[in-house]
Amino acid sequence: MKNLQMVDLRSQYKHIRRKLRKRLRKVIKESAFINGNEVKLFQQNLEQYLGVRHVIPCASGTEALQIALMALPLEEGDEVIIPDFTFVSAAEVACLLGLRPVFVDIDPQTFVMDPAAVERAVTERTRVIVPTHLFGQCTNMAAIMEIAEKYGLYVIEDACQSLGADYILREGSGQLQMGPFTYDYRCADKGVRKKAGTIGHIGCTSFFPSKNLGCYGDGGAIFTDDDDLAARMRQIANHGSEKRYSYQTTGLNSRLDSVQAAVLNVKLPYLNSYNARRQEAAAFYDRAFISCMQLKVPVRCPYSTHIFHQYCLLCRSEQERKALQFHLQKTGIPTKIYYPKPLHLQEAFRFLGGKVGDFPVSEDISKRIIAIPMHTELSQKQLRYISAAIVNFFN
Ligand SMILES: *Cc1c(COP(=O)(O)O)cnc(C)c1O
Repeated sequence: MKNLQMVDLRSQYKHIRRKLRKRLRKVIKESAFINGNEVKLFQQNLEQYLGVRHVIPCASGTEALQIALMALPLEEGDEVIIPDFTFVSAAEVACLLGLRPVFVDIDPQTFVMDPAAVERAVTERTRVIVPTHLFGQCTNMAAIMEIAEKYGLYVIEDACQSLGADYILREGSGQLQMGPFTYDYRCADKGVRKKAGTIGHIGCTSFFPSKNLGCYGDGGAIFTDDDDLAARMRQIANHGSEKRYSYQTTGLNSRLDSVQAAVLNVKLPYLNSYNARRQEAAAFYDRAFISCMQLKVPVRCPYSTHIFHQYCLLCRSEQERKALQFHLQKTGIPTKIYYPKPLHLQEAFRFLGGKVGDFPVSEDISKRIIAIPMHTELSQKQLRYISAAIVNFFN
Protein backbone atom coordinates (compact mmCIF):
# COMPACT_ATOMS: atom_id res chain seq x y z
CA MET A 1 0.00 0.00 0.00
CA LYS A 2 1.31 3.39 -1.06
CA ASN A 3 1.70 6.54 0.93
CA LEU A 4 1.31 5.31 4.49
CA GLN A 5 2.52 8.03 6.81
CA MET A 6 2.60 8.67 10.53
CA VAL A 7 0.72 11.92 9.80
CA ASP A 8 -0.92 12.83 6.49
CA LEU A 9 -1.17 16.63 6.36
CA ARG A 10 -1.47 16.78 2.60
CA SER A 11 -4.70 14.76 2.46
CA GLN A 12 -6.12 16.80 5.32
CA TYR A 13 -5.34 19.99 3.40
CA LYS A 14 -7.34 18.80 0.38
CA HIS A 15 -10.60 19.02 2.37
CA ILE A 16 -10.03 22.62 3.44
CA ARG A 17 -8.14 23.88 0.40
CA ARG A 18 -10.72 26.39 -0.78
CA LYS A 19 -11.36 27.97 2.60
CA LEU A 20 -7.64 28.17 3.28
CA ARG A 21 -6.69 29.74 -0.02
CA LYS A 22 -9.39 32.37 0.32
CA ARG A 23 -8.29 33.24 3.84
CA LEU A 24 -4.58 33.32 3.02
CA ARG A 25 -5.19 35.54 0.00
CA LYS A 26 -6.96 37.98 2.31
CA VAL A 27 -4.03 38.00 4.75
CA ILE A 28 -1.61 38.78 1.95
CA LYS A 29 -3.90 41.48 0.61
CA GLU A 30 -4.13 43.14 4.03
CA SER A 31 -0.41 42.56 4.63
CA ALA A 32 -0.67 42.91 8.43
CA PHE A 33 1.56 39.91 8.99
CA ILE A 34 2.32 40.52 12.68
CA ASN A 35 -0.45 41.26 15.19
CA GLY A 36 -3.03 41.34 12.41
CA ASN A 37 -6.77 40.73 12.65
CA GLU A 38 -6.43 36.99 12.18
CA VAL A 39 -4.33 36.72 15.35
CA LYS A 40 -6.82 38.68 17.45
CA LEU A 41 -9.64 36.61 16.03
CA PHE A 42 -7.87 33.34 16.72
CA GLN A 43 -7.22 34.40 20.28
CA GLN A 44 -10.96 34.98 20.75
CA ASN A 45 -11.92 31.78 18.96
CA LEU A 46 -9.61 29.70 21.13
CA GLU A 47 -10.74 31.45 24.34
CA GLN A 48 -14.27 30.52 23.46
CA TYR A 49 -13.40 26.94 22.50
CA LEU A 50 -11.50 26.35 25.73
CA GLY A 51 -13.81 28.32 28.00
CA VAL A 52 -10.88 30.27 29.38
CA ARG A 53 -10.48 34.00 30.15
CA HIS A 54 -7.18 34.58 28.37
CA VAL A 55 -5.37 33.04 25.44
CA ILE A 56 -1.96 34.46 24.54
CA PRO A 57 -0.82 33.29 21.11
CA CYS A 58 2.96 32.87 20.79
CA ALA A 59 5.63 31.44 18.52
CA SER A 60 5.77 27.77 19.64
CA GLY A 61 4.85 25.33 22.37
CA THR A 62 8.39 25.50 23.70
CA GLU A 63 8.20 29.28 24.02
CA ALA A 64 4.74 29.01 25.58
CA LEU A 65 6.36 26.98 28.37
CA GLN A 66 9.25 29.44 28.60
CA ILE A 67 6.96 32.48 28.84
CA ALA A 68 4.83 30.72 31.46
CA LEU A 69 7.90 30.06 33.63
CA MET A 70 9.19 33.60 33.08
CA ALA A 71 5.89 35.06 34.29
CA LEU A 72 6.02 33.30 37.67
CA PRO A 73 7.89 34.78 40.65
CA LEU A 74 10.80 32.32 40.55
CA GLU A 75 14.45 32.54 41.58
CA GLU A 76 17.55 30.89 40.22
CA GLY A 77 17.83 27.32 41.46
CA ASP A 78 14.11 26.90 42.12
CA GLU A 79 12.91 23.43 41.23
CA VAL A 80 10.45 22.48 38.54
CA ILE A 81 8.95 18.99 38.64
CA ILE A 82 8.70 17.46 35.16
CA PRO A 83 7.84 13.93 33.99
CA ASP A 84 10.89 11.92 32.97
CA PHE A 85 9.05 10.60 29.91
CA THR A 86 8.03 13.53 27.72
CA PHE A 87 9.26 15.88 25.02
CA VAL A 88 12.27 17.94 26.04
CA SER A 89 10.76 21.46 26.04
CA ALA A 90 9.83 22.03 29.69
CA ALA A 91 13.18 20.74 30.98
CA GLU A 92 15.10 22.67 28.35
CA VAL A 93 13.48 26.04 29.09
CA ALA A 94 13.74 25.48 32.85
CA CYS A 95 17.51 25.12 32.40
CA LEU A 96 17.71 28.20 30.17
CA LEU A 97 16.05 30.21 32.93
CA GLY A 98 18.43 28.95 35.63
CA LEU A 99 15.78 26.73 37.19
CA ARG A 100 16.41 23.12 38.12
CA PRO A 101 14.37 20.39 36.42
CA VAL A 102 13.48 17.57 38.80
CA PHE A 103 12.33 14.51 36.91
CA VAL A 104 9.75 12.09 38.26
CA ASP A 105 8.63 8.65 37.14
CA ILE A 106 5.44 7.92 35.23
CA ASP A 107 2.38 5.78 35.71
CA PRO A 108 2.97 2.37 34.05
CA GLN A 109 -0.59 2.26 32.64
CA THR A 110 -1.04 5.71 31.13
CA PHE A 111 2.61 6.88 30.85
CA VAL A 112 1.82 10.28 32.37
CA MET A 113 3.38 11.78 35.50
CA ASP A 114 2.66 9.70 38.61
CA PRO A 115 1.22 11.98 41.36
CA ALA A 116 2.74 9.85 44.14
CA ALA A 117 6.18 10.34 42.57
CA VAL A 118 5.50 14.07 42.35
CA GLU A 119 4.76 14.32 46.06
CA ARG A 120 7.92 12.38 46.91
CA ALA A 121 9.98 14.80 44.81
CA VAL A 122 8.76 17.97 46.56
CA THR A 123 11.50 19.83 48.47
CA GLU A 124 11.95 23.26 50.05
CA ARG A 125 12.96 24.61 46.65
CA THR A 126 10.06 23.20 44.62
CA ARG A 127 7.94 25.92 43.02
CA VAL A 128 6.29 24.48 39.91
CA ILE A 129 4.84 21.22 38.59
CA VAL A 130 4.63 20.77 34.79
CA PRO A 131 2.48 17.75 33.95
CA THR A 132 2.43 16.66 30.28
CA HIS A 133 -0.90 15.33 29.05
CA LEU A 134 0.94 12.72 27.02
CA PHE A 135 -0.28 11.32 23.69
CA GLY A 136 -3.63 13.13 24.09
CA GLN A 137 -4.78 12.01 27.53
CA CYS A 138 -4.78 14.10 30.71
CA THR A 139 -2.67 13.59 33.79
CA ASN A 140 -4.61 12.97 37.01
CA MET A 141 -5.09 16.69 37.64
CA ALA A 142 -7.19 16.34 40.80
CA ALA A 143 -4.21 14.65 42.46
CA ILE A 144 -1.70 17.13 41.00
CA MET A 145 -3.75 20.17 42.07
CA GLU A 146 -4.12 18.73 45.57
CA ILE A 147 -0.33 18.42 45.89
CA ALA A 148 0.11 21.93 44.48
CA GLU A 149 -2.31 23.34 47.02
CA LYS A 150 -0.71 21.44 49.90
CA TYR A 151 2.80 22.73 49.17
CA GLY A 152 1.93 26.10 47.58
CA LEU A 153 3.14 25.26 44.06
CA TYR A 154 2.22 26.54 40.61
CA VAL A 155 0.96 24.16 37.96
CA ILE A 156 1.73 24.69 34.26
CA GLU A 157 0.02 22.12 32.07
CA ASP A 158 1.89 20.99 28.97
CA ALA A 159 -1.12 20.48 26.70
CA CYS A 160 0.91 20.41 23.49
CA GLN A 161 -0.41 16.92 22.65
CA SER A 162 -3.88 17.27 24.10
CA LEU A 163 -5.67 20.32 22.69
CA GLY A 164 -9.37 19.48 22.81
CA ALA A 165 -9.13 16.64 25.33
CA ASP A 166 -11.59 16.84 28.23
CA TYR A 167 -10.61 16.43 31.84
CA ILE A 168 -13.57 14.91 33.67
CA LEU A 169 -13.84 16.55 37.06
CA ARG A 170 -16.46 14.55 38.84
CA GLU A 171 -19.96 13.21 38.54
CA GLY A 172 -22.93 14.37 40.62
CA SER A 173 -23.22 17.95 41.77
CA GLY A 174 -21.81 20.35 44.31
CA GLN A 175 -18.59 22.28 44.62
CA LEU A 176 -15.18 20.96 43.89
CA GLN A 177 -12.00 22.44 45.26
CA MET A 178 -8.98 21.84 43.06
CA GLY A 179 -5.91 23.64 44.27
CA PRO A 180 -6.76 27.32 44.61
CA PHE A 181 -9.83 27.04 42.41
CA THR A 182 -13.42 26.21 43.24
CA TYR A 183 -15.63 24.78 40.55
CA ASP A 184 -19.38 24.49 40.72
CA TYR A 185 -20.44 21.32 39.13
CA ARG A 186 -23.79 19.91 38.33
CA CYS A 187 -24.09 17.09 35.94
CA ALA A 188 -26.10 14.16 34.85
CA ASP A 189 -24.12 11.26 33.54
CA LYS A 190 -21.10 12.64 31.78
CA GLY A 191 -19.33 14.45 34.58
CA VAL A 192 -18.21 18.06 34.59
CA ARG A 193 -15.55 18.63 32.03
CA LYS A 194 -12.81 21.16 31.54
CA LYS A 195 -10.52 21.34 28.56
CA ALA A 196 -6.97 20.06 28.98
CA GLY A 197 -4.73 23.01 29.84
CA THR A 198 -7.40 25.02 31.67
CA ILE A 199 -7.15 23.35 35.08
CA GLY A 200 -3.76 24.50 36.40
CA HIS A 201 -2.62 28.11 36.76
CA ILE A 202 -1.35 28.17 33.18
CA GLY A 203 -1.76 25.88 30.18
CA CYS A 204 0.52 25.68 27.15
CA THR A 205 -0.02 24.23 23.71
CA SER A 206 1.73 23.89 20.37
CA PHE A 207 0.45 24.24 16.82
CA PHE A 208 3.41 22.38 15.30
CA PRO A 209 2.02 20.95 12.03
CA SER A 210 1.64 17.38 13.30
CA LYS A 211 -0.21 18.29 16.51
CA ASN A 212 -3.96 17.72 16.83
CA LEU A 213 -4.47 21.36 15.82
CA GLY A 214 -1.49 22.18 13.62
CA CYS A 215 -0.63 25.25 11.60
CA TYR A 216 1.72 25.45 8.60
CA GLY A 217 4.86 26.35 10.50
CA ASP A 218 5.61 26.93 14.17
CA GLY A 219 3.03 28.31 16.58
CA GLY A 220 1.85 28.04 20.16
CA ALA A 221 -0.45 29.48 22.79
CA ILE A 222 -0.72 29.98 26.53
CA PHE A 223 -4.00 29.99 28.47
CA THR A 224 -4.96 31.19 31.92
CA ASP A 225 -7.92 32.48 33.93
CA ASP A 226 -5.62 34.74 35.96
CA ASP A 227 -5.76 38.37 34.75
CA ASP A 228 -2.39 39.40 36.22
CA LEU A 229 -0.52 36.39 34.87
CA ALA A 230 -2.14 36.94 31.47
CA ALA A 231 -0.99 40.58 31.37
CA ARG A 232 2.55 39.58 32.33
CA MET A 233 2.72 36.81 29.75
CA ARG A 234 1.33 39.01 27.00
CA GLN A 235 4.03 41.52 27.83
CA ILE A 236 6.84 38.95 27.95
CA ALA A 237 5.82 37.51 24.56
CA ASN A 238 6.16 40.99 23.09
CA HIS A 239 9.66 42.14 24.18
CA GLY A 240 8.50 42.88 27.73
CA SER A 241 6.60 45.81 26.35
CA GLU A 242 3.03 47.07 26.55
CA LYS A 243 3.56 50.27 24.68
CA ARG A 244 5.99 50.42 21.82
CA TYR A 245 9.55 51.36 22.83
CA SER A 246 8.72 51.21 26.51
CA TYR A 247 9.96 48.07 28.27
CA GLN A 248 8.68 46.92 31.65
CA THR A 249 10.62 43.67 31.79
CA THR A 250 13.00 41.63 29.64
CA GLY A 251 10.94 39.56 27.27
CA LEU A 252 11.03 37.66 24.01
CA ASN A 253 9.96 38.11 20.44
CA SER A 254 7.43 35.30 20.51
CA ARG A 255 4.39 35.92 18.35
CA LEU A 256 2.01 33.87 16.27
CA ASP A 257 2.00 35.45 12.82
CA SER A 258 -1.12 36.26 10.81
CA VAL A 259 -0.53 33.55 8.20
CA GLN A 260 -0.43 30.85 10.88
CA ALA A 261 -3.41 32.38 12.69
CA ALA A 262 -5.41 32.29 9.45
CA VAL A 263 -4.66 28.58 9.04
CA LEU A 264 -5.69 27.99 12.64
CA ASN A 265 -8.91 29.98 12.25
CA VAL A 266 -9.86 27.72 9.35
CA LYS A 267 -8.90 24.53 11.20
CA LEU A 268 -10.20 25.21 14.74
CA PRO A 269 -13.86 24.53 13.80
CA TYR A 270 -12.72 21.06 12.66
CA LEU A 271 -10.74 20.23 15.81
CA ASN A 272 -13.51 18.20 17.45
CA SER A 273 -14.16 16.22 14.29
CA TYR A 274 -10.40 15.74 13.77
CA ASN A 275 -10.12 14.37 17.29
CA ALA A 276 -13.18 12.15 16.70
CA ARG A 277 -11.47 10.74 13.58
CA ARG A 278 -8.44 9.89 15.65
CA GLN A 279 -10.65 8.21 18.26
CA GLU A 280 -12.36 6.14 15.55
CA ALA A 281 -8.99 5.01 14.20
CA ALA A 282 -7.90 4.14 17.76
CA ALA A 283 -11.08 2.11 18.30
CA PHE A 284 -10.39 0.23 15.07
CA TYR A 285 -6.85 -0.59 16.21
CA ASP A 286 -8.10 -1.66 19.67
CA ARG A 287 -10.52 -4.15 18.13
CA ALA A 288 -7.90 -5.45 15.73
CA PHE A 289 -5.40 -6.18 18.50
CA ILE A 290 -7.87 -7.57 21.02
CA SER A 291 -6.66 -11.16 20.63
CA CYS A 292 -3.02 -10.20 20.26
CA MET A 293 -1.65 -11.13 23.67
CA GLN A 294 1.82 -9.91 22.77
CA LEU A 295 0.66 -6.29 22.58
CA LYS A 296 -0.87 -3.89 25.05
CA VAL A 297 -3.19 -1.25 23.59
CA PRO A 298 -3.43 2.26 25.14
CA VAL A 299 -5.16 2.36 28.53
CA ARG A 300 -7.98 4.90 28.93
CA CYS A 301 -8.25 6.46 32.34
CA PRO A 302 -11.65 7.37 33.80
CA TYR A 303 -10.86 11.06 34.36
CA SER A 304 -10.00 12.06 30.79
CA THR A 305 -11.00 11.61 27.20
CA HIS A 306 -8.16 10.44 24.93
CA ILE A 307 -7.67 12.32 21.67
CA PHE A 308 -4.81 10.16 20.40
CA HIS A 309 -2.11 12.54 19.39
CA GLN A 310 -0.28 9.24 19.20
CA TYR A 311 -1.51 5.65 19.30
CA CYS A 312 1.24 3.78 21.15
CA LEU A 313 1.41 0.03 21.61
CA LEU A 314 3.50 -1.67 24.26
CA CYS A 315 5.57 -4.69 23.24
CA ARG A 316 6.79 -7.36 25.64
CA SER A 317 10.47 -6.64 25.10
CA GLU A 318 12.88 -4.35 23.34
CA GLN A 319 13.87 -7.18 20.96
CA GLU A 320 10.27 -7.87 20.03
CA ARG A 321 9.71 -4.16 19.34
CA LYS A 322 12.75 -4.06 17.11
CA ALA A 323 11.60 -7.10 15.16
CA LEU A 324 8.08 -5.67 14.80
CA GLN A 325 9.42 -2.35 13.61
CA PHE A 326 11.62 -4.09 11.03
CA HIS A 327 8.72 -6.24 9.82
CA LEU A 328 6.47 -3.20 9.40
CA GLN A 329 9.14 -1.23 7.63
CA LYS A 330 9.42 -4.03 5.06
CA THR A 331 5.67 -3.83 4.41
CA GLY A 332 5.76 -0.04 4.00
CA ILE A 333 4.31 0.87 7.39
CA PRO A 334 6.12 3.64 9.26
CA THR A 335 6.46 3.54 13.04
CA LYS A 336 8.08 5.90 15.53
CA ILE A 337 9.38 5.63 19.05
CA TYR A 338 8.09 8.27 21.48
CA TYR A 339 10.41 8.47 23.40
CA PRO A 340 13.48 6.31 22.90
CA LYS A 341 15.42 7.73 25.85
CA PRO A 342 14.12 9.14 29.14
CA LEU A 343 15.14 12.70 29.94
CA HIS A 344 17.27 11.82 33.00
CA LEU A 345 19.60 9.78 30.76
CA GLN A 346 20.05 12.49 28.12
CA GLU A 347 23.47 14.08 27.81
CA ALA A 348 21.97 17.57 28.10
CA PHE A 349 20.77 16.79 31.62
CA ARG A 350 23.75 14.76 32.81
CA PHE A 351 24.75 17.60 35.13
CA LEU A 352 21.64 16.81 37.17
CA GLY A 353 23.20 13.47 38.11
CA GLY A 354 20.58 11.09 36.68
CA LYS A 355 21.60 7.46 36.27
CA VAL A 356 20.20 4.15 35.01
CA GLY A 357 17.73 2.76 37.52
CA ASP A 358 16.50 6.13 38.81
CA PHE A 359 13.12 5.92 37.06
CA PRO A 360 12.41 2.25 36.32
CA VAL A 361 8.98 2.72 34.74
CA SER A 362 10.09 5.43 32.32
CA GLU A 363 13.22 3.41 31.42
CA ASP A 364 11.18 0.27 30.82
CA ILE A 365 8.43 1.96 28.76
CA SER A 366 10.99 3.75 26.55
CA LYS A 367 12.35 0.34 25.52
CA ARG A 368 9.00 -1.26 24.66
CA ILE A 369 6.72 1.47 23.33
CA ILE A 370 5.97 1.93 19.61
CA ALA A 371 3.71 4.42 17.81
CA ILE A 372 1.85 3.39 14.66
CA PRO A 373 0.25 5.70 12.06
CA MET A 374 -2.37 7.98 13.64
CA HIS A 375 -3.98 10.94 11.92
CA THR A 376 -7.29 12.31 10.69
CA GLU A 377 -7.18 10.81 7.20
CA LEU A 378 -6.71 7.08 7.84
CA SER A 379 -9.09 5.09 5.63
CA GLN A 380 -10.69 1.78 6.60
CA LYS A 381 -8.49 0.14 3.98
CA GLN A 382 -5.33 1.63 5.45
CA LEU A 383 -6.38 0.71 8.99
CA ARG A 384 -7.08 -2.88 7.89
CA TYR A 385 -3.73 -3.10 6.12
CA ILE A 386 -1.75 -1.73 9.06
CA SER A 387 -3.46 -3.83 11.71
CA ALA A 388 -3.32 -7.01 9.60
CA ALA A 389 0.44 -6.54 9.15
CA ILE A 390 0.86 -6.20 12.90
CA VAL A 391 -1.35 -9.16 13.79
CA ASN A 392 0.38 -11.31 11.15
CA PHE A 393 3.76 -10.57 12.65
CA PHE A 394 2.71 -12.30 15.84
CA ASN A 395 0.95 -15.28 14.19
C1 LIG B 1 5.39 19.36 20.59
C2 LIG B 1 5.60 19.44 22.04
C3 LIG B 1 6.25 20.54 22.64
C4 LIG B 1 6.91 21.63 21.85
O1 LIG B 1 6.14 22.31 20.95
P1 LIG B 1 6.86 23.16 19.79
O2 LIG B 1 5.74 23.97 19.22
O3 LIG B 1 7.43 22.19 18.82
O4 LIG B 1 7.89 24.02 20.43
C5 LIG B 1 6.34 20.56 24.01
N1 LIG B 1 5.86 19.57 24.78
C6 LIG B 1 5.25 18.50 24.25
C7 LIG B 1 4.71 17.44 25.16
C8 LIG B 1 5.11 18.39 22.87
O5 LIG B 1 4.53 17.30 22.35
